[in-house]
Amino acid sequence: MLTSKLLKNSSIWKCSTICGRSVSSSQTVDSAKAQTKAATYDDRTSIQAAPKKLGKLEPFVKNLFLGRFDKSVLAYPMALDRERHDTLHQMVVPIEKFFLEDLDSAAIDRNAKIPPEVLQQVKDLGLYGMQIPVEYGGLGLGATEYSRLCEIIANDGSIGVTISAHQAIGFKGLLLEGSEYLKKKYLPGLATGELLAAFCLTEANSGSDAASIQTRATLAEDGKTWLLNGSKMWISNGGTADVMTVFARTEVDGKDKITAFFVERAFGGVTSGAPEDKMGIRGSNTAEVHFDNTPVPAENVIGEVGKGFKLAVTILNSGRFAMGSTTAGVLKRGLGMTLDYAFTRKQFGHTINEFGLIKQKFASAAVNIYAMESMAYHAAGLMDSYEEYDTAVEAAIVKVFSSNQGWILGSELLQIMGGLGYMKSYPYERYLRDGRITLIFEGTNEILRMFIALMGLQHAAPELKTLVQKLRNPFNNPGFVIKTTLRQIRDRNDRPKLIHDLPGYVHPSLKESATSLEYCVERFRFAVQIILSKYGLDVVKPQHQMDVVRLGDMAIDLYAMTSVIARASRAYCDGIHNGEHEMLLARTFCKEAEQRIRRLMSGVQNMGETTDLEYSAIADMLYSKGGYAAQHPLTVEGW
Ligand SMILES: Cc1cc2nc3c(=O)[nH]c(=O)nc-3n(C[C@H](O)[C@H](O)[C@H](O)COP(=O)(O)OP(=O)(O)OC[C@H]3O[C@@H](n4cnc5c(N)ncnc54)[C@H](O)[C@@H]3O)c2cc1C
Repeated sequence: MLTSKLLKNSSIWKCSTICGRSVSSSQTVDSAKAQTKAATYDDRTSIQAAPKKLGKLEPFVKNLFLGRFDKSVLAYPMALDRERHDTLHQMVVPIEKFFLEDLDSAAIDRNAKIPPEVLQQVKDLGLYGMQIPVEYGGLGLGATEYSRLCEIIANDGSIGVTISAHQAIGFKGLLLEGSEYLKKKYLPGLATGELLAAFCLTEANSGSDAASIQTRATLAEDGKTWLLNGSKMWISNGGTADVMTVFARTEVDGKDKITAFFVERAFGGVTSGAPEDKMGIRGSNTAEVHFDNTPVPAENVIGEVGKGFKLAVTILNSGRFAMGSTTAGVLKRGLGMTLDYAFTRKQFGHTINEFGLIKQKFASAAVNIYAMESMAYHAAGLMDSYEEYDTAVEAAIVKVFSSNQGWILGSELLQIMGGLGYMKSYPYERYLRDGRITLIFEGTNEILRMFIALMGLQHAAPELKTLVQKLRNPFNNPGFVIKTTLRQIRDRNDRPKLIHDLPGYVHPSLKESATSLEYCVERFRFAVQIILSKYGLDVVKPQHQMDVVRLGDMAIDLYAMTSVIARASRAYCDGIHNGEHEMLLARTFCKEAEQRIRRLMSGVQNMGETTDLEYSAIADMLYSKGGYAAQHPLTVEGW
C-alpha cells in the first residue's frame, strides 16, 4: 500500500515526508534513518492487497531528451504484494537447489548437449511457462518475478538460452497479439514444455537489418493456407523446436510487408541443419531452419497480415529487460566464489584480498552489479505497476549495460583468480564464453546504443523543432528568446540552472548524488539540442554515429543513476540490512557516471577532446589498404 501510494503521488517524497515520517532536509542522516526503520517495518506488515495497477507511465528516458524528469520513478517500484512476494520466495528454493546444487553445467558445456532428463526437470519446475497466464496453464508471473527466476536460471547459460528462446521470444508473439484460438491451442502445451518454441527472424543476409528478410509466404489458391519458403539461420532451439514464430514477406495491396506466422514443425516442409558448434552456451541448440512450401493455416497468422515487423520489434523490446537480472545473478555468484579465494590465496606475505588493486576490482564489480540489478528490477517494476507503459528504451539500456559489464566484470573476476581462472575446472571461462553472446543477440550493442539515441531524438524532435523555430523568429517571440538566451548562455558555460529539485525526492544522505543526477539531466538536455542542431535529419547518417551515440551512452548512465538512487533511497528508508552500504554503492556509481557524462558532453560540445576525425581517417586507411597499414617496426627505409 505504501509503495502504490508512493507511485501514485510522487510529491509524497518531497523532503517533508520520507517513508511516511516527517523529516526535514536539515535533519541528520542518522535520525532520519532511525525514524524510517521503525516506520517501514510496521508498514510492511500492512502490505496485503495486490497493488492496483496505475494508468499510463510516460516514457521516462525518452522524456529526458526533452529535459523532463518524471520524479515518480524515484520511488523505486515495489510491484509485488506480500502474498506474491512470499510465493516467489517459496518458488526460488527448489529452483536454486536444482541450478546451484544438482546441475552439472560443466558437463552440459563439455558435451554441448542438455540431457533430456535435465530438461524434464526444468519443465517439472514450471520454467517453460513462467509468463504464461495461469488460465492457460502457466505460472502467470509478472516481469519482476520472471526477472528473479532468470537470476537463478542464468547460472546455466545453455538452459537459460533454451528457456528464453522458448518464452521471451519463441512464443511471446502469442501472448502479445495471438488470437484466442492460437492461445488456447498452443499455450497449455508450451507451458508444460510438451511443446518447445523458437523465434525465426535472422537469415544469412539479414541480421541487424531484420527488415530485409527474404523468406516469403504466399497465399495458396484456397485462400486459407500460406505457403512458406525460405531459410533462417542461427535459430536458438532451431533443431529441436516443435513450433516457431516465423517472419516472412507477404504481399499486401501490391506491397511487400512482413507477417508473423506460428508454424508447427508437423505442418511439413520444415527441416533443420546440424547444431552449430559455438564458443559458449554450447548445450543450447542453434541451427538453421528451412521452409519448403510449408503450408500454414491462415488462422496461424499472429496479429495482422503485414504487421509482423512491428511485432518482431515489440517482442524483442519486451524481453530485453531480463538480461540485467540474468547477468547480475551470474556475477553475484562469481563475486562470492572469488572473494572466498582472495581471502585464502597468499602472495608476498599477504592474502591477495589485501592488495589495493584487488580491492578496486571487487568494489567496481559490486558497484556495477548494483547498477545493473537496480535498473533491471526498476524497469520490471515499472512494467508490472502500470497498465500502459513504453519501456523499450529502458529495456535496451538494461541489455546494453548488463551485457557489457558482464563481459568486463566477468573478466576482472577471472583475473583475480589468476591462472586458476583460466582453467576449465573453474567456471569463470565458461561464464565468459556463455555471456559473450549477450552483446550480440537480441539486438547487437552497437545497434541498441544507436536505438537508444535515435528513439529519444525522434521523441524530442517535434518539440525541439518548435524551440529552434522560435529562436529563429526572435521578433515574433521576444519573451521566449530572452528566457532561452539566458538558458543557452548558462548551458554553454556549463552552469545549468537546476530546476527539478531531485534531492527533495530522495533520502537526504543521497543529496549529492541527486544533485549530480540533476546536473547531468540538464547537460543531457543541452547535448540533445546540440546534436539536433548540428545534424538535423542527418542524425541517422552512418558517418555521424560516433557523435550521436554519445547521447545513447549518456542516457544509459542517466537511467542507471536514477535507478541506483531510487533503490538505495528506498533500501535505506525501509531499514533493509546493509542499507548504508547500498547508499555507498549508489553514491560511488553516481560519481563515476557523472565523470563519464562530463567526458561525453565535452565530446558533444566539440571541445577538441574527441578523436572522432582521427578514428575515421585511420579506419579509412585500413579499409583502403585492406589491413593494418603501418609498416613492421623492423622495417628500415631503403633496405
Ligand atoms: C548463438 C546465437 C543465437 C541466436 N539466436 C537467434 C534466434 O533465436 N532467432 C533469431 O532470429 N536470431 C538469432 N540469432 C541471430 C542474432 O540475432 C544475430 O546474430 C544478430 O541480430 C546480429 O546479426 P548478424 O550476426 O548478422 O550481425 P550483423 O548485423 O551483420 O552485424 C555485424 C556487426 O556490424 C554491426 N552493425 C550492423 N549494423 C550496424 C549499424 N547500422 N550501425 C553500427 N553497427 C552496425 C553489428 O553491431 C555487428 O557488430 C542468434 C545468433 C547467435 C550467434
